[in-house]
Amino acid sequence: MSMELDVPTRLLIGGAWRPSATGESFATLNPATAKPLAQVAAAADADVDAAVEAARTAMRDPAWTRMPRPALGRLLWRVADLIEANADELAHLETLDNGQPLGIARHVNVAGTAEHFRYYAGWATKIEGRTADVADPSIFHYTRREPVGVCALITPWNFPLMIASWKLAPALACGNAIILKPAEQTPLTAIRLTELFVEAGFPPGVVNLLTGGAEVGRRLVRHAGVDKVSFTGSTEVGREILRASAGSLKRVTLELGGKTPMIIAPDADLDAAVAGAVQGALFNSGQVCAAYARSFVHSSRLDEFVSKAAAAVSAIRLGPGLDEGTELGPLISEEHLGKVDGLVRQGVREGAELVTGGSRADGPGYFYRPTLFTGVRDDMTLAREEIFGPVVTILPYDDPAELADRANDTEYALPPSIWTSDLNTAHRLAASVRAGAVFVDMLHVPDAAGPWGGFKASGFGREMGPYAVDAYTEVKGVFVNLA
Ligand code: NAD
Repeated sequence: MSMELDVPTRLLIGGAWRPSATGESFATLNPATAKPLAQVAAAADADVDAAVEAARTAMRDPAWTRMPRPALGRLLWRVADLIEANADELAHLETLDNGQPLGIARHVNVAGTAEHFRYYAGWATKIEGRTADVADPSIFHYTRREPVGVCALITPWNFPLMIASWKLAPALACGNAIILKPAEQTPLTAIRLTELFVEAGFPPGVVNLLTGGAEVGRRLVRHAGVDKVSFTGSTEVGREILRASAGSLKRVTLELGGKTPMIIAPDADLDAAVAGAVQGALFNSGQVCAAYARSFVHSSRLDEFVSKAAAAVSAIRLGPGLDEGTELGPLISEEHLGKVDGLVRQGVREGAELVTGGSRADGPGYFYRPTLFTGVRDDMTLAREEIFGPVVTILPYDDPAELADRANDTEYALPPSIWTSDLNTAHRLAASVRAGAVFVDMLHVPDAAGPWGGFKASGFGREMGPYAVDAYTEVKGVFVNLA
């Protein structure tokens, strides 16, 4: 068993690093080699209880609750500075643990994480209530936005650092105390980021880290001392979290699975749309919640689209994320690769046309060839189930009038893209496609200032922008009788 890294593998509870109460740990693997990278502390029930207690204590600590807002803003800004100062190390860790190409880790994941903290550093001084007249003119009425309290932030493995920042930055800017529970497949950058929080100078107990598996998340969700759960992950677990949190009626926001449509209008710039379709479907090996999972292409342009897309997909360089020139890294695990391959086989059995790829690639790691299907119908498994792998799926259409209905014909609803050179088509479809954001003539790149999230079984509550401030605050009305 080779261990490639020397990183702290402890939990952060109440400002102190410590091993699991039971001394247990688990291995995190490098998906490019299938070898263990490090042993990481597996939080026990007693650790979950201690982290919740530490966070509750922080919510009573004037060092946190009375911290001047500009000082809080500076702390978040300092986290961004520290992320940038350690960007190469963080990107390297992320690539080792998650598999993504180093360029994506460095320029998308780590850079996006730093920007997110900068954006919410600004919000720390701008959270406000309002005054509003009520029925009786002698009553002075105003609203306050108060922190929700102790927030459990439970994150997935596909963009470990960035998705954690989408929760951490607004939660802290709003004055909450947090417990971060990263995915068990990719805990390393969360550990390093937590060290940076300590270095930035957050008071003890404001930021706590619990590494471990699903059972750690489960205990957090059921814990009476947790006020809010923010979860990104699968729809199945999202449903379980909602049921489990009902007992204490926690605040819950959910970012779940997707089956995102990409709509290519007959008038679209085809080359741009092909490049977009391939990148949008295969970015991060398709392990993106809003990966283009159904590309709708007009029959009149299908042959041209498929041949250009096939050429682009076949030219993609698959390899370990640390190798220069790698465009597509491995999948996260053997189990996940098996799931992706099973769905591809099912697609072939159901009659979809496999144009390229469709099998595991050589290597000890979890490499899967970039894959392109055409001739996919709405009722096929390829068009209905989330694949979360490097698969471009083309669905031909004849009548543009049916596009919105077909795009919406799924239980999911994460941000789609529309490719057209006609303004009318763009705005009409943007209004009719159901999702928390829509992108026109561009890839669906989340922006800290705009909403991100899903409708339907893709979850609820928006991340980013002022919408995340709504998600991490409670509104209180104050009524003062001045008569
Ligand atoms: P997952 O749901 O298995 O796990 C996510 C996290 O939840 C992990 O930290 C895990 O330990 C924890 N967890 C598992 N079971 C739990 C339970 N019962 N209670 C509490 N916590 C629990 O998801 P995954 O496999 O890590 O991620 C892939 C999924 O995430 C995909 O379906 C993808 O679409 C979705 N995703 C969505 C978004 C988005 O923004 N909507 C972003 C990334 C990923």
